[in-house]
Amino acid sequence: MNLILMGLPGAGKGTQAEKIVEKYDIPHISTGDMFRLAIKEGTELGQKAKGFMDEGALVPDEVTIGIVEERLNKDDCKKGFLLDGFPRTLAQAEALDALLSGMNRSLDYVIHVEVEKDQLVERLTGRRICPKCGTAYHVLFNPPKVEGICDKDGEALIQREDDHPSTVENRLEVNIEQTQPMLDFYTDKGELVTIDGSQGINEVFNDIDEKLKTIS
Ligand code: ADP
Ligand code: ADP
Repeated sequence: MNLILMGLPGAGKGTQAEKIVEKYDIPHISTGDMFRLAIKEGTELGQKAKGFMDEGALVPDEVTIGIVEERLNKDDCKKGFLLDGFPRTLAQAEALDALLSGMNRSLDYVIHVEVEKDQLVERLTGRRICPKCGTAYHVLFNPPKVEGICDKDGEALIQREDDHPSTVENRLEVNIEQTQPMLDFYTDKGELVTIDGSQGINEVFNDIDEKLKTIS
């Protein structure tokens, strides 16, 4: 099962990815999570990515494509993968295509979770994440059992730097501009599936799952 989850920031990719990998047992590859981990660990990759991320800008393609290539070549990706947050540019989509062809593999579906901008702003500014396990909560729509504390490991939740209202608008604008060419690219290839992401978390998952069940 070779999948991409696409959607603007706040569309619910991370939330849905968690449910998909739990049910289908494939690795969840989030470029955003990989960059955040690299920053936390102070690696060279983290130093390259930090400035771009803090501004809500995209990390350069060559850096991003490099880390995905390395990840897809690991053994656990042999049974499939779920890419989340990659590709984000047409150049990344084309590089991924070449990479998969070289591995004699292809995508099953590109799942596009579609949500309107106003709703995205509301979701992003209310998002709180666990700095330890990465789980995303929302102060109103998906609160933890105890306010401000992760259900899974008891860690205090934080707000991401780039989820502050001052950077959210810029981040969405950059992404909206970049997304359309990719949607066209995957539509032309017949791989795009669009899901109504404005629904509740479980309803969105049910719609995605209906599609995944058709993959043998
Ligand atoms: P992405 O990975 O696409 O940026 P997340 O999965 O982190 O998005 O979700 C963004 C925010 O919206 C989080 O606070 C999450 O709890 C919340 N959220 C996710 N899906 C829904 C939904 N269907 N309805 C309401 N809130 C949601
Ligand atoms: P969101 O979907 O909420 O924007 P992510 O966690 O996917 O959050 O990404 C956070 C940041 O990491 C992005 O704003 C960008 O700076 C960087 N990033 C993640 N994925 C990519 C990518 N495919 N190409 C370039 N930059 C990326």
